[in-house]
Amino acid sequence: MTTRRLVLATRNQHKVAELRAILGDGAFDLVGADAYPEIPDVPETGVTFAENALLKAHALARATGLPAVADDSGLCVDVLNGAPGIFSARWAGKHGDDRANLELLLAQLSDIGPEHRSAHFACAAAFALPDGTERVVEGRLLGTLRTTPSGDGGFGYDPILQPLGDTRTCAELTADEKNAISHRGQAFRALAPLVRELLG
Ligand code: IMP
Repeated sequence: MTTRRLVLATRNQHKVAELRAILGDGAFDLVGADAYPEIPDVPETGVTFAENALLKAHALARATGLPAVADDSGLCVDVLNGAPGIFSARWAGKHGDDRANLELLLAQLSDIGPEHRSAHFACAAAFALPDGTERVVEGRLLGTLRTTPSGDGGFGYDPILQPLGDTRTCAELTADEKNAISHRGQAFRALAPLVRELLG
């Protein structure tokens, strides 16, 4: 079996391991973007998760000459008309300050009762070839927002998102439990057959 190199637009080794497990069968040599430190991160100028995932996948495919996968994700709160959405990572101002983002969101929702606290995590997963061929799919994890954080696992808004049908927050699930239902797991699992089909 020939092994084809596939590059994932992330420096997060957890995402690389997760996608490697989903693509499975060893037919792909999946590497993270940190294998190409000379390639700069692409600005996320899109206004949807799908646009940003495609921007990242195309930029990486062009720069490496290899098939590339990218994802973009965030938390969408119904009463905020889908915000923080694509701004999830920098909702409180500074990119990646998970605690500040979560606390600002809880403060903004402090007067909102349980019946109006529905939200979902969304993830777009994109695949691009150097010739411009592209595929993009989306996954969602529906839930409700707690009024106080709970749990030490996960990252980002995990301590306040309680998946539908569960009594725990995402931060109280094991990594395997979360992967099985998560927006990212769903999107990557939907993308995997499209990648296999295009790469043969
Ligand atoms: P990125 O797509 O990995 O850059 O994630 C964007 C932001 O969305 C993160 O910084 C988190 O704030 C939020 N987010 C995305 N996925 C999750 C998740 O699975 N749990 C908690 N927060 C998430």
